[in-house]
Amino acid sequence: GPGASTPRRRRVGVMGGTFDPIHHGHLVAASEVQSWFDLDEVVFVPTGQPWQKSDRDVSPAEHRYLMTVVATASNPRFTVSRVDIDREGPTYTIDTLRDLTARLPDTDLYFITGADALAEIFTWREADELFDLAQFVGCTRPGYDMTAGTLDGIPADRVTILEIPALAISSTECRERRAKGEPVWYLVPDGVVQYIAKHDLYATGVPS
Ligand code: ATP
Ligand code: MG
Repeated sequence: GPGASTPRRRRVGVMGGTFDPIHHGHLVAASEVQSWFDLDEVVFVPTGQPWQKSDRDVSPAEHRYLMTVVATASNPRFTVSRVDIDREGPTYTIDTLRDLTARLPDTDLYFITGADALAEIFTWREADELFDLAQFVGCTRPGYDMTAGTLDGIPADRVTILEIPALAISSTECRERRAKGEPVWYLVPDGVVQYIAKHDLYATGVPS
């Protein structure tokens, strides 16, 4: 048949996040999905001004972008995209997937989320079309159980739940630790620890 001579379609993972800061939970999730689906590449996509988090000040996009570059630089299959931070206005996943689809022809996209983000999927804009643009991969995350209801309404053939090594790390906790003067070593990559210190991120109100 034609299979043997037809080149395989490229498979690209899309890891969206605020990455304020990026931590080892994000990196393990991306690595596990890359390995499980034999992805050619995983693109990390830091958000623009995130509409879900308007209740707190998010660090400038350029800092979040550069920390993501630092954290992923050593992995030849990891890249970082500016599509969301360069787009005007708040980030919607539908726009991320449309932009990447336009830039990556003949590519199957795998959108990677943690259990908490997957549970919120139907609060996302134009949720129905999302499933036409990508396969969704929900990674287990400590503290966020996927109940039966989590997958309600999601087409069964467009979502995969993947059990990954449990890392109880969040960006929120990294920021809080930093504000209290506690270390973030080994929660985030070494280069990110140094970037945070160099730019004095998250330390407001506490002498450092
Ligand atoms: P914050 O506390 O600021 O919300 P976060 O740690 O949740 O930060 P995000 O940038 O919000 O990080 O998350 C980006 C994506 O990574 C989401 O899909 C989230 O579910 C997933 N994720 C974050 N941390 C983990 C983790 N420890 N294990 C698995 N998935 C994770
Ligand atoms: Mg989060």
